[in-house]
Amino acid sequence: MTSEFTLKANPKYIKQFQKGFPLLNKDNVNGIQGNLDEGTIINLVDGTYRFIAKGYYGKQNKGIGWLVSWKEHEQIDVDFFHQKLDYAVNQRLHFLYDEETTAFRVFNSEGDGFGGITLDYFDGYYLIQWYSEGAYSFKEDIMAAIKKLPNYKGLYQKKRFSVEGNYLEENDFVHGEQPSFPLLVKENGVNFAIYLNDGAMVGVFLDQREVRKLIRDKYSDGKRVLNTFSYTGAFSVFAALGGAIETTSVDLANRSLSKTIEQFSINGIDYEAQNIIVDDVFKYFKYAVKKELSFDMVILDPPSFARSKKHTFSASKDYKDLLKEAIAITEDHGIIVASTNCSTFNMKKFKSFIENAFNESSGSYKLLEEFTLPEDFKTINQYKQGDYLKVVFIQKL
Ligand code: SAH
Repeated sequence: MTSEFTLKANPKYIKQFQKGFPLLNKDNVNGIQGNLDEGTIINLVDGTYRFIAKGYYGKQNKGIGWLVSWKEHEQIDVDFFHQKLDYAVNQRLHFLYDEETTAFRVFNSEGDGFGGITLDYFDGYYLIQWYSEGAYSFKEDIMAAIKKLPNYKGLYQKKRFSVEGNYLEENDFVHGEQPSFPLLVKENGVNFAIYLNDGAMVGVFLDQREVRKLIRDKYSDGKRVLNTFSYTGAFSVFAALGGAIETTSVDLANRSLSKTIEQFSINGIDYEAQNIIVDDVFKYFKYAVKKELSFDMVILDPPSFARSKKHTFSASKDYKDLLKEAIAITEDHGIIVASTNCSTFNMKKFKSFIENAFNESSGSYKLLEEFTLPEDFKTINQYKQGDYLKVVFIQKL
C-alpha cells in the first residue's frame, strides 16, 4: 500500500500551484523533514489545510516530486494512467498513421500530466524512461496501461534514477516481443537504426525531427557540412540526402564511427564518400583552422555538460566560445545551426551567447530559423522550463 503525506505549500507559491505548476522542490513547499519513501502520495495543501493538488514524492535532478492531479478525490491508479496515456496517444494519431515517420514521443512527462516519465514509440516497440524511484513505484499500473496502447508489441525501459538523471546499466527489456536489433524505424522517410537494449542512448534524439527535416529540405543542397558532436550522424545523413556535396561528422566516442557508417548505409549512402572522424571537437576546430578548412554549414549540438581528457564543456558557460570556434571556420553567408538541450538557460540567454560570440569575432549575422521542442514533446504553459530545446539557424554575413 502506498503511503500518503500531507505537505504544506510555501504561501508564496500557492497561486502558481493552483494554476497548475507541477514541480515540487525544496523551496516551494514547507515541512519535509528527512526523506519520505519514494512514491509516497503527496497531498499538497495551503496554510489552512485546504487541498491544492496531489502528486508523488520522487527525487530527481529537477526537484523532489511532481503534482499529477488537481482533483481531490482522483486516485492514482491504473485507470488514471489509462486515461492519461489514451489522451496523449489521441493527440498524436497523425504520427501513428504516418508511414513515413514510425518513431515519436507518446508521453512527455509533466507536459502530458505525469512528471518523471517519458514514453517513446519505435514502430510498435515502446520505451519508457523513469526519472526517479518514485516514478518507478507506479510501474505496475503504468505498464498495464502501456500494454493496451496501439500496435503494442513490446516494452523496454531506461532507469535514470540518479539525481543527475544518469542511466542505470541493466537489461532494459521488460515485456512482450523482442525485435532483432537494429530495429529500423523511419523519420520523414529516412531510416534510423535503433537499439533499445544497448545503454543509455538508442541511436536517435527524437526531439530534433523538425530540425533534421529542415536541414535536408532547405539548407543542404550543394553544401559542405560539418556536424560536430555527431553521435550516430543523424544530421549528416539528412544533409547528405538533401544534396550536401560532403559531410564531416566529428564525435569523441569510438562507437560513433560504426554507428555513423551504419546510419549512412541503411539509407543507401556511400559512407566512404563522407568524412567520419573520431576526435575531440575542440581539437578538430584547431586542426580545421590550421588546415584552412571552411564549411557552408556547421552544426553544433553538444551535450549540456561533457568532460573529455583536455576539456570540460558546460553549455551555460562555454557555448559562446564554441560558437566563436564555429564562426572562424564558416564561410561568409554560411549557416551555423546552434542547438542546446540545456535547461538552465532560456532562448533569450542563448541568443545573447550568439550576439556576444559574433561581437567578439567582429562579425555580423542574421537569425533565420528558430526551434523549440516539437509537438509530440508536449510542454505546458505553467511549466515553461520543460521546453529545454533551443535550436537557432544563424547566417554569418
Ligand atoms: N548531435 C547528435 C547528438 C549529440 S549527443 C544527434 O543529433 O544525434 C552528444 C555527443 O557528443 C555524444 O555522442 C558524445 O560522444 C559527444 N561528445 C561529447 N564531448 C565531445 C567532445 N569534446 N568532442 C566530440 N564529441 C563529444
